[in-house]
Amino acid sequence: MKSLIYFLDDDPVDADLCATIVRSLGCEALIYQDVPALVAASQERAPDFVFLDEQTRGVNGLDLSRQFRELGLQDIKLVVMETPDPSGKSGKPSASQVVADARLEKPFGHQHVQSLLSHLRKGTLELRFWGVRGSIAAPGPSHDRYGGNTSCVTLRLAMDEYMIFDAGTGIREFGNFLIGLGRPVRLHLLISHAHWDHIQGLPFFRPAYLPQNTMTIYGPDQPESSFAQVIADQMQAVYFPVPLTAMQAQLHFQTLSEGSYTVAGHPVRTMPLHHPGSTLGYRVGVNGKSFVYACDNEIAPGDRALRQRLTDFGRDAHIMVADAQYVPGDFPAKTGWGHSSYTEVVDTALEARVRHLLLTHHDPDRNDDALDAIVEDARRRIAAQGSDMDCSAAAEGVVMYL
Ligand SMILES: [Zn+2]
Ligand SMILES: [Zn+2]
Repeated sequence: MKSLIYFLDDDPVDADLCATIVRSLGCEALIYQDVPALVAASQERAPDFVFLDEQTRGVNGLDLSRQFRELGLQDIKLVVMETPDPSGKSGKPSASQVVADARLEKPFGHQHVQSLLSHLRKGTLELRFWGVRGSIAAPGPSHDRYGGNTSCVTLRLAMDEYMIFDAGTGIREFGNFLIGLGRPVRLHLLISHAHWDHIQGLPFFRPAYLPQNTMTIYGPDQPESSFAQVIADQMQAVYFPVPLTAMQAQLHFQTLSEGSYTVAGHPVRTMPLHHPGSTLGYRVGVNGKSFVYACDNEIAPGDRALRQRLTDFGRDAHIMVADAQYVPGDFPAKTGWGHSSYTEVVDTALEARVRHLLLTHHDPDRNDDALDAIVEDARRRIAAQGSDMDCSAAAEGVVMYL
C-alpha cells in the first residue's frame, strides 16, 4: 500500500536518508523542517504518517498530537524517531513517545520501517509496561534498567481507551501521561488480586479524580470481603488521606470469577491462579491475537497439574506475561509463597506454544545483572528444546505490539 509520510527533522542529511528508505518501500515522503510548515502541509493534504525527530528544535510530539486533534487530523499516526541513549540504559519513555503510535530507533533500515508500517496499518495495539517489580517497589541504581515500580501493564485500544492490568505503583506514571493527553479517557482496569503491590498505585492515579473520565475496575472478590470493598478499604483514613469517594471519574466496579466476559468489546477469559487469596489470570483476544497476563502464580516445581492449567490457559498466546519471581534455588524454602521459578514458566510457555514470553514480577532483591542472567539462561533452555519462542524480562517503558 502506498502511504504518504511527512518527516519533521531539521537535519537535512539525516532526513534525506530516512526519506530514501521509505521511498524505496513505495511510500511518498516529504520533509519539513519546522512545525508550522508541517501542520500547514497536513491541512492541505493529510499524510498517513508523520515521522518526527524530537531532537529538532521546537518539536514536541505531545503538542503536535494536540494540534492535529484540534484540526480534526487525529487519524494521522505519529512515529517518534529516537536516538538511543549512548549509556545503553533503557530510559523512561518521554511523554511524546507515549502519545506517539510507535517509536523507531535510529539508525533504522528497510526492514524496521516495513514491519512498523505493517503493524500500524493493521491497527495493531500497543502494549506497554509501567511496572514489573514483584511484592514491593524497589527503585535504585542497580534496578534502573528493568525498573522498580510494581505491576502495571497497559493495552491501548484507541487513543482515548485503554485496558490496564493491575494498579501497582507503575500506574502513577501512566496516569501522568494520560493527564498529558488532555482529553477524556475510558479505562478498563483489570486487577489480578488485592495484594498491595497490585493496587497500591490506584490512590495516586490522577485520571481517577477527573469527572470527564470513565473507569471500570474489574477483579475477584476476596474470601472475607467484596472486591469493591477491598479497593475502598485501602483508602480508609488510617491508610490514606483521601477516600475512594473523592475520585470524581465515573467509576464502576465489576466482580469477576472464573469465566468468559466482554471488556470494551473484546473477549476476556479468566483463570484462578495458584496464589494466596483469590487471584485471576486474564486472556484477552484482540485483532485475532491473544494476550495472557498471569501474575501472581505459583507453579510448584514438578507439579504437573499446576503447569497444565497454565498451559491450557496460555495455549498459542501471542504474548504471555507471567510471574517468574523465583529461581529454582528459591525452592523448597519459598514453596507456598505464590510465585514461580522462571524455569517452570519457560517450560510451561513452551508446552503452550506461546510466541513471546515475558517474565515479570521480578524479585525486589534481584538486580539488573541478575535478571540479565535469568533471561540468558531462559533463552538457552528454549534453544535447547529446539524452539524459536521469544523470551525476555519485562522492563519499565518497554513497548510491544499485539
Ligand atoms: Zn504481587
Ligand atoms: Zn500477590
